[in-house]
Amino acid sequence: MTRFDTIVVGAGMSGMTSARMLADAGQRVVVLEGRDRIGGRMNTDRASGFPVDLGASWIHGIDGSPLWDLTQALGIPTLEYTVGSFQVGGRPIENFDGDGAAMDAAATAQWIADVDEADRLLVEEIASSAPGDTYLDVTERALDRSGLDAERIDEIREFFRHRVEEQCGAWIGDLDAHGLDEDAIDGDEVIFPRGYDELPRRIGAGLDVRLNHTVTGVSRSASGVVVTAEGEDFTADRVIVTVPLGVLKTGRIAFTPPLPDEVSGPIERLGMGVFNKVFVQFPERFWNEDSYVIRALGEAGEHWHSWYDVSAVSGLPTLLTFAAGPFGRRMQELSDEDVVADSVAALRALYGTRVPAPTAHWITRWGQDRFSDGSYSHLAVGSSHHDHDALAGPVDDVLHFAGEATWGEEPATVGAAFYSGHRAAERILGRPVDLAAFAAAIREREQTADR
Ligand SMILES: Cc1cc2nc3c(=O)[nH]c(=O)nc-3n(C[C@H](O)[C@H](O)[C@H](O)COP(=O)(O)OP(=O)(O)OC[C@H]3O[C@@H](n4cnc5c(N)ncnc54)[C@H](O)[C@@H]3O)c2cc1C
Repeated sequence: MTRFDTIVVGAGMSGMTSARMLADAGQRVVVLEGRDRIGGRMNTDRASGFPVDLGASWIHGIDGSPLWDLTQALGIPTLEYTVGSFQVGGRPIENFDGDGAAMDAAATAQWIADVDEADRLLVEEIASSAPGDTYLDVTERALDRSGLDAERIDEIREFFRHRVEEQCGAWIGDLDAHGLDEDAIDGDEVIFPRGYDELPRRIGAGLDVRLNHTVTGVSRSASGVVVTAEGEDFTADRVIVTVPLGVLKTGRIAFTPPLPDEVSGPIERLGMGVFNKVFVQFPERFWNEDSYVIRALGEAGEHWHSWYDVSAVSGLPTLLTFAAGPFGRRMQELSDEDVVADSVAALRALYGTRVPAPTAHWITRWGQDRFSDGSYSHLAVGSSHHDHDALAGPVDDVLHFAGEATWGEEPATVGAAFYSGHRAAERILGRPVDLAAFAAAIREREQTADR
């Protein structure tokens, strides 16, 4: 039986990054992946002849981002789309008020100013919050101080609730008061017209990736690790486990001996949210061509409040909306037909009969996916930013963890997955790995293969 230097569990962005770095350093590496594909929560569906990103879509802020530098070095095209973080303004947004009426320029400017002011108060309330305070607590205190009328307070409350649902996949009352601290966006946001999964696929090209290998056991000892997948044992000096937090929470992977409190504590305390996507394609555009997003308050926006125009990717009129938090979980139980009917009814409440019958749709159910058990991690009440990084271990110097949930600075992102994979590789090699050289080596290998 081959003994590997390092086993990587999971072929998502974090797993591909660490495996590639270790293999480039001369290590014998095997990647064990439960799915029949690479990419994990970066999942591009190309069955219709154009890419549909069912998992991640955005780089949330390209300024000073090593992830952006990597996409540039690999020559991956992007489209500017700076609304991926539930901004209230900054780009053209078609806003509808609580009565389903389109806001004019003056009403939109007032709405943006009111939310900005409430946000300013919210930052103060977060700074003075006590341990155990929820995001709902601090929101209510900020709104109390805002001096706005009751109707406007209701609308801003709704906006804050939806922001938490989209950014964290969680109910506002379950999120810690500090749960959006790491949410600042530096610079433009971008999406990927060729599909985001190009990134992990190109990083992972040529690696020894064993697909359809679901890991069920990881045992460690002074002499290394034994990882069990599909009844087969793989041995190595070390292992990097990159499965999502949701999977770790289920206990479906048996760790022997059991994980110490330093790692099992964060697994228990951190939250795994649900955030699902619904793409609806139409024969023609009925919304304003210049709008980045359509946003509805009140009854029309109760389930489906934000619609992102992603037509530029397919060349066909396409809106993307999200079902997140408690509604995201409930939606997963509905049939595709019911989901599409409900979402189109919400659009008709705004645009009336101008909304034609859709021609195609794509719906995700990440909370029911046994290789993810949710969409991304968040700071549930009772957890702390430290929990994210503590989750990385290592345990007994042989068991490392990587993945978005192990990166406290900007969890729940592709960047977090990339940086945590980089960190695990550096820890195992005991030396820095230069990111520019990493990207150059990928390009060089591709050029050699092309010749
Ligand atoms: C709908 C959605 C939208 C998102 N949008 C964005 C966005 O716009 N921008 C952004 O930055 N981030 C976004 N994210 C988050 C981003 O996709 C993730 O943070 C990132 O892709 C996680 O990478 P990872 O390597 O940590 O985990 P994963 O990509 O989940 O990789 C882990 C791998 O482990 C495998 N695995 C699980 N269990 C086992 C097992 N028992 N044995 C073997 N293999 C196993 C999984 O199949 C998977 O391939 C989004 C996520 C979702 C779900």
